[in-house]
Amino acid sequence: MILLLLQGGGKVLDAGKFLADSLSIPVITVPLSPSTCAGWTALSNIYTINGQFIEDVQLKACPKILVLDHAFIETAPKRTLASGIADALAKWYESSLTSSRVEDGLVQQAIQISRVLRDQLLIDGENAYKRQSTQNLSWCNVVEGCALTAGLIGGIGGEKCRTAAAHAIHNAITQIVSTHKPLHGEIVGVGIILQLKLEEKINNNKLAYQSIKQLLVLMKKLNLPTTIAELGINVFENNNLQKIAEFTCRDKSEIHYLPFEINQKDIIETITNSEKQKIKLF
Ligand SMILES: [Zn+2]
Repeated sequence: MILLLLQGGGKVLDAGKFLADSLSIPVITVPLSPSTCAGWTALSNIYTINGQFIEDVQLKACPKILVLDHAFIETAPKRTLASGIADALAKWYESSLTSSRVEDGLVQQAIQISRVLRDQLLIDGENAYKRQSTQNLSWCNVVEGCALTAGLIGGIGGEKCRTAAAHAIHNAITQIVSTHKPLHGEIVGVGIILQLKLEEKINNNKLAYQSIKQLLVLMKKLNLPTTIAELGINVFENNNLQKIAEFTCRDKSEIHYLPFEINQKDIIETITNSEKQKIKLF
């Protein structure tokens, strides 16, 4: 029997899963960092060689076996843990918005799991980041949350448990090549903050500001970027702001799964305000 054994981070796993799916070969995944849930999901994000997002591809099946070896993951750079936390947090902020009106029981359960996962990451995230060790229960909880539970949410929620603005903005930001080479979750984290600002501004969500303050506290503790400038990109040069707004609002963008209308002007205004003035934490 021919199968592919994939070891690596999100991009390696996604590329290997896509190749295996194209050839109808089963895969075993061995994530070497907690940075994404790519080891579990039946989805591949496809990028150019320079890391520019092209498209999401739904695969026929998820990997046959996922080997999560805590001892391997313990050796990964701390930055990958912080990135994984931001990416896993997005599950709640995005799916609770896009799928809140879906009556399918499994989708509702997936959304509630993403809420419990968010709470666990808010509680254990800082401790896990400070002491990366298989002896630290918080670290084990967070690693399993990022690499396993986040994948489970996509598994039972399926296509209806969708991504929304945070990943749409991520996909757009990757179109601008940054010398900082930010990780997937680092960009998604900035995307969550911008999504919450859109919710506050366009959808009049009064709780969004509180969520932003809560997230910024955690993101600072995890040394995560909180603005596009901190990702190494100046949106006010090279027409970058316009490029990000155009890609975010293109026809097949996930941003259109939001339960309210968004256009390029909204994106430009929100990013401009966000990049010019940082929210006060207290
Ligand atoms: Zn992601």
